[in-house]
Amino acid sequence: MMQFDASTPRNYDGWLLLVFVLVAGFLAFIYQTLTPYQSNEASVSALSYHVEAEEGSSLTEVMASSRNTWNPVSNPVNLGMHEAGHWFRFTLPARASQQDYILEINYPLLDNVDVFVFDSSGQTLLQHFVSGDERIYIQRSLLVPTLAFELPSTSGALQVYLRVESSGSIKVPLRYWEKERFVSYTASHNLMMGLFLGVLFAVGVSNFFLFITNRSTTFFVYSGYVFSLALTIAAMHGIGYAIIWPELVWFQGRAVAIFANATIMFAVLFSDRILSVSRYSARLSRALKVVAGLFFISLLVSFILPYSFLIKTFLIMVSFTVIFTLSVGIWIAIKGVRIARYYAFAWFILLLSAFTASLDNLGIITSPVPSNFLLMLGASIETLLLALVLAINYSHNREQVFAIKEQALSQEKAMLKTREELLNVQQQYQDDLEYQVQERTLELEVALRELSDANQELSTLNTTDPLTGIRNRRHFDKRLQAESRRSRREQTPLSIALIDIDHFKQINDDYGHTVGDACLSQVAARLKEQLKRPGDDVCRYGGEEFVVLLPNTELTGAQQVAEFMRQAIADAPLDIDGNKLHITISAGVASSVIISDGLQAELFNHADKLLYAAKAAGRNKVIAQQLPGQTS
Ligand code: GH3
Ligand code: MG
Ligand code: MG
Repeated sequence: MMQFDASTPRNYDGWLLLVFVLVAGFLAFIYQTLTPYQSNEASVSALSYHVEAEEGSSLTEVMASSRNTWNPVSNPVNLGMHEAGHWFRFTLPARASQQDYILEINYPLLDNVDVFVFDSSGQTLLQHFVSGDERIYIQRSLLVPTLAFELPSTSGALQVYLRVESSGSIKVPLRYWEKERFVSYTASHNLMMGLFLGVLFAVGVSNFFLFITNRSTTFFVYSGYVFSLALTIAAMHGIGYAIIWPELVWFQGRAVAIFANATIMFAVLFSDRILSVSRYSARLSRALKVVAGLFFISLLVSFILPYSFLIKTFLIMVSFTVIFTLSVGIWIAIKGVRIARYYAFAWFILLLSAFTASLDNLGIITSPVPSNFLLMLGASIETLLLALVLAINYSHNREQVFAIKEQALSQEKAMLKTREELLNVQQQYQDDLEYQVQERTLELEVALRELSDANQELSTLNTTDPLTGIRNRRHFDKRLQAESRRSRREQTPLSIALIDIDHFKQINDDYGHTVGDACLSQVAARLKEQLKRPGDDVCRYGGEEFVVLLPNTELTGAQQVAEFMRQAIADAPLDIDGNKLHITISAGVASSVIISDGLQAELFNHADKLLYAAKAAGRNKVIAQQLPGQTS
């Protein structure tokens, strides 16, 4: 399985470079577009300033003030932060053409600006302009984001007294424009700013939608950051006041502070999330949240406290925060998290530009590029780099989620496979068991059959006379019982012939018992030969007596069978070991339908009686008679 985490060494350096080139190219393009409309700053000559007395000074007082209270200063003016009102005076050269001219202060955050325009002698006040963001926007001489004043159209030189009072920096970058150039410049500048803010707005909106669709608050925090940044820049350039909140004078005085605080708050929250700081140090993550909280408090008090105080604390807080978050970024980058490198780089750029801009704002250095522009540069590079970081992070997270899902899927598959195997084993086991049961059942059946065969054999043996091989008396008794029942049920006649060998004692006496036995055997065989029906049976009753059972046979039929038997014995001598033995038999035959229970015993006794009668009548005889009291 592939392992994804934040430190996956995937390289986005190429993209980083591309972002850098694109932002730089875009800003260079803006800069390039604006340069043809050059103002004539050099013509603002002999510039000097005078700091107003604490209780305030009127124009006349200032004009009357002694020469040595005026200090020379060069354009663009940047005196840093001062509470007091500052006066500037300078001369604008005589103009040859009939052109209208514009005086512009390219720093829209000044609170109160008064412009007094005198003629060349300095005696006649030609015009008094009022501007600044503590004055209602609509009062301005020209409704543009910067502070611009349309000068009176006289051909001579002009003397200008300028009073500036602001809770922020006393920055007075003066520009002197031909009106046509100013108009073209302003149009281009506004277009470029619109484009720039539009890009930020689009980034903010798309990230907000990403937040809505992904429910990841990182996107929300980032979009909050981008929107706040866009509003900060709009406020700084006077665009917010010009377009969004022209009536809200009090808000204009605080807008920069409010939005700047929000920007840093979101930036710090974003840092905490994007770098997954809590994964590396819970304490550091908490510290970042506290910092974000401080900026939130600062944001809230921005509505109340004076701007001059706010902006100072803000700048101090920002300095520490930027260095802190940058350090966190570097620390995590050192741990090998690649996106932290990009992050740290982005913050470094912002830090650098913010630091330069701050120094420029405080009047410590004078940046070659306007500080507004510098901040825009830093902020846009930072914004886009952070967008890149976010995208990288998002894609990593997604890959991680995919990997986890894939793992879960394969685990499930493995589980299913195991279950299937288990089922197979179970099935196999069951099959085996069934087979064994079948086998055992079969064996049992065989054993049972063998047992039943053995039983059969035993019972046959039990009912067979061993000497003669015909059935014995036991068998006869059973059959007599069964045939009697049938006779009674079906009302059919049952006949019995009782046979006795004549003078058998004599044979034993003459030839010995062995010959006697053989004789019995041969007699039995001859008697059996005379049976024709499958139901007829001859059994050895005992000694040299035999009994013939003839079911469903009338007396005459039975008599005939007995007669045939008598003849079969009498007609041919027995041949035993070469001895020709002439023997005879006598038989008593009785017949009856067994109409009542126990009648068969009577029938047998009657046959016995008839046998005795046959003996008495001289032997070798058959005497047959219907059982008395019965009809044939
Ligand atoms: P009769 O019936 O004609 O009156 O004369 P008998 O000699 O046959 O009469 P009896 O019933 O007195 O004799 C039967 C003789 O049969 C007695 C015995 O020696 C002989 N006997 C009986 N059973 C067997 C046997 O199993 N084997 C042999 N060898 N002789 C037997
Ligand atoms: Mg006898
Ligand atoms: Mg006899």
